[in-house]
Amino acid sequence: MRMAGRSAPATDKATDKAAADRAKAAADRAKAAKSRKIESVAAPERLVVAKPPARPDYPRYRVDPGKPIRTADIDPDESEGYQGKADVTEQLALHRNRIGDLQTRLYAEHDRALLIVLQAMDTGGKDGTIKGVFRGVNPQGCQVYSFKVPSADELAHDFLWRYHNRAPQAGMITIFNRSHYEDVLIVRVKNLVPEEEWRQRYASINEFERMLTINDITVIKFFLHISRDEQKRRLESRLANPDKRWKFSSGDLGERLLWDDYMAAFEEAINTCSTDHAPWYLVPANKKWYRNLVIARTIADTMEAMNPQYPPAEEGLEKITVPD
Ligand code: AMP
Ligand code: MG
Repeated sequence: MRMAGRSAPATDKATDKAAADRAKAAADRAKAAKSRKIESVAAPERLVVAKPPARPDYPRYRVDPGKPIRTADIDPDESEGYQGKADVTEQLALHRNRIGDLQTRLYAEHDRALLIVLQAMDTGGKDGTIKGVFRGVNPQGCQVYSFKVPSADELAHDFLWRYHNRAPQAGMITIFNRSHYEDVLIVRVKNLVPEEEWRQRYASINEFERMLTINDITVIKFFLHISRDEQKRRLESRLANPDKRWKFSSGDLGERLLWDDYMAAFEEAINTCSTDHAPWYLVPANKKWYRNLVIARTIADTMEAMNPQYPPAEEGLEKITVPD
């Protein structure tokens, strides 16, 4: 604290200079932000030129607005000709490294953020994706939220409240393991609110994601697409394996019986809410290693298109020597 009647000591001058430097860095970032348009991250995979795709025919699973998909048209067993995990180990490691390096820059930039939404049927691989793709990410710059049945407090608010509350701060990657989409998925399929209410949520979701994007949060969404047979195998494996039984919930069997209703709900959510600013990716997910490859690659491409920058260093650093 500065004492009244005394001239400013040297440390105050240093503090003033640091404050001026910070103000300048903030102004530089604001200028850079102004020059970025929403469109600049709207189609990241099309902007990336630094590294060509691993193969020229690498399929893209982005759902384009105005081109509705049907889940039945996408083969959950697709793996683009790769036979097994060993075929993609190297590439997966490469994309994980890309994500790690870009995250370091995003965190240092402390200006923009990335929100990744994961949705799937039970056993679809959301947890496995988090474990398999985000290895190599600095935990300090990453948050994961797993959304469960809303609490009484959450239910007493508007449906977006609990999600908005956990949207990423500047510099962070946030992963939503389930998300605001549950409010047009399970809520719709199980009639948890009247149709008039969930119907208007698609527009609210699009507005919400647009607002996040305008506020420099890039939003990407993945639907991990498994087949009904694959879900049966995975549920059976949870029952048979003592280490996996904790994951089994008998409620999952009831949801499984509503498979077709869920597919209809997913299709409408994806087709209505895949926008230029917040795209959905529909990922073939029967083969876990292929799913991880597609998701890691898409995230790395998206972050590369965001092109996060280290903030400018203080001026005059070259003249500084560190005292003994
Ligand atoms: P799990 O992800 O297996 O731990 O299960 C979480 C459960 O919470 C799933 O059955 C979800 O469908 C359910 N859930 C998540 N969000 C909501 C929501 N907004 N409304 C109702 N149920 C939800
Ligand atoms: Mg579960």
